[in-house]
Parts: sequence; structure tokens; C-alpha cells
Amino acid sequence: YDAKHRGDTVAVYAAESDHNSPERLSLLADLRQVLEAPGSAGAADDVGEITMYYQPQIAIASGDVVGVEALLRWRHPRRGMVDPEELIRVAEQSAVMRLLTRRVVDDVVEQIAKWSAAGIELRAAVNVSVRDLHTGEIADQIADRLARFNVPPSQLQLEITEGALMADPRRVLATISRLDKIGVAIALDDFGTGYSSMQHLRRLPLAEVKVDRSFVLGMAVDADDAAIVRSMIELAGALGLRVVAEGVEDERTWRLLHAAGCDVAQGWFYARPMPAAELATWLSRYRPLQPGPVQPGSGRH
Ligand code: C2E
Ligand code: MG
Ligand code: MG
Ligand code: MG
Repeated sequence: YDAKHRGDTVAVYAAESDHNSPERLSLLADLRQVLEAPGSAGAADDVGEITMYYQPQIAIASGDVVGVEALLRWRHPRRGMVDPEELIRVAEQSAVMRLLTRRVVDDVVEQIAKWSAAGIELRAAVNVSVRDLHTGEIADQIADRLARFNVPPSQLQLEITEGALMADPRRVLATISRLDKIGVAIALDDFGTGYSSMQHLRRLPLAEVKVDRSFVLGMAVDADDAAIVRSMIELAGALGLRVVAEGVEDERTWRLLHAAGCDVAQGWFYARPMPAAELATWLSRYRPLQPGPVQPGSGRH
């Protein structure tokens, strides 16, 4: 188990040591029930429903909104808000993961089409785990869904998180290459935390890397974090990859990223993830911030 957020209380998830713990099985059973309900309208009341939230991504230099990241939210009537990371960890060990990813992709592509019909052209990024890429099924599904809703492939992006070791790199590479050929861009998520991020940079047809928020969160107060983020930005730039910083919570971090030449930022400083309906309102009110000099601040050395 790795503690992603330094400073957070680390709760080791019990199900990891007990694959078949009652808690894990019960969460999986509920998840299956949610996913087997025919669309959100038919979702059973006792397990709630899964909805997608969207968080804006902003080009740092221009202030333009370049896209959104889709993040799942599950408010369970008894469990409360289910932590997406915990949910994915549990789902990834079972066949339910396929259903979950299918639902997420279907919802997001349909949402892109809805925005389009409302005059909002947005690119949306969907998170998938490497396990989703072990078969080519996901590429077929994406191609079908894009065609059915008449959404250009360039409006969909995939963020790959390496939650599990890449068990079958050749098949993963084959799937990613197919998606790349279809025209769906691929981002390497949580860059810097994976098992072999550097290998992925060499091997995969990536368009983007996302610097993990654990580094970004610290960069305004920790010189080491700032140095790590700067070198990741430089590396990505040298490889011709777009670089996105996630977890940008304050203006100082945003200015540091701007000074370091980071392309895109995402974080609470701009906006939290929000339902699709709220996003339209947010976009209509959004005004870009003018980049200025980095204020001398709390940098610790
Ligand atoms: P991620 O893909 O790295 O997503 C970024 C996470 O950072 C999100 O957490 C987001 O809410 C959070 N975040 C954004 N801005 C800030 C900020 O300024 N400060 C802080 N502290 N956090 C910020 P979230 O929504 O809890 O999702 C956690 C992880 O769960 C995601 O990490 C992703 O790996 C996974 N996940 C979420 N939705 C999906 C999904 O639909 N499919 C899959 N496979 N994984 C998902
Ligand atoms: Mg992501
Ligand atoms: Mg990430
Ligand atoms: Mg993550």
C-alpha cells in the first residue's frame, strides 16, 4: 500500500489483505446492482446511482478551458460518498470493473454529445485502469459509442492509471495503439507514482502526462517537490508531450507552474469536480486569470 498524499492519515484498506472480506464482497455486490440497473433512472433506491462529475482543465498561458476530466461519484444511501479510489481498487480485482468502465465511457460520450448540442465543444477525459486495456474490447466499445453519438474521437481522451502492475504489456500496447489510431488521445495519469513510468513514456503512444497531485500539492511550500515537478515538466516537454498538473489548489502554485512552462492545470484553485449541469453555468461565468510574477512566498529550503 502506498500513501499517496503525504500528511494524510493512512487507512490501510482491510480488503487488500483479505481478498474475500465480507465488506469487499458487499461493496462489490452493491456495485454490480448499480451497474446492472437499466440506466440511472432505473437505479434501485437501496444502492443509489453512479454519476459523473467534471473538473475543468485550463491552459495556463492563455487561461482557456481546454477540457474536463470525468470523475465518478457514488453516493450510497447507507455508505455515504464512496471513495472513488477505494471503489476502483475493489472493482479492479473483479469482472465488475469491465461493467464500470463501460458505464463511465457510455455516460461521458453521451454527455459530450449533449454539450455539443448545447453549443459547448468540450474534450472530456475518462480514467481507465491498465486492466481495462488487457483486451481490445474497450477500443471497440469506444469506437461504437463515438460513432453512435457522432462525437469526434479528438473530443475523448483516456487517462491511464497504473493501479495494477502491467501484467501484459504487449496487449495493453496493442489496445492503446488502436485507440491512438482511432484518434483518441492517451494521457499517463499520476505520473511519478507508477511502477515504471519511464518505460511507459518510451513505449506508449502518449499525448499527455499528468503530474501526480502529491507532487503538485507540495510545490508551493517544498523546494524538493517544486524541483521534481519542474523536471517532470522539462522531461515531458523534451519528449513532445503535453503536461498537465493536477491538484492546483492555490494561486502561488499556479504561478510557479506558469513560470515552469507547464501547459495545463487542474485543481480546486479553478474549480472542483461538478455535475454536468453545473459545469455549463461555471463555463458561462468563467474569466481567465492573468498570469503574473511569482510572489516571494513560503518556499521552504
Ligand atoms: P485521478 O484520475 O488522478 O483524479 C484526480 C483526483 O484529484 C480526483 O480525485 C480529483 O477530485 C482530485 N483533485 C482535483 N483537484 C484537486 C485539488 O486541487 N486538490 C486535491 N487535493 N485533489 C484534487 P477523485 O475524484 O477522488 O478520484 C480519485 C481517483 O479515482 C482518480 O484519480 C482516478 O484514479 C480514480 N477514478 C475516479 N473516477 C474514475 C473512473 O471513472 N474510472 C476509473 N477507472 N478511475 C476513476
Ligand atoms: Mg485522472
Ligand atoms: Mg491523477
Ligand atoms: Mg489517482
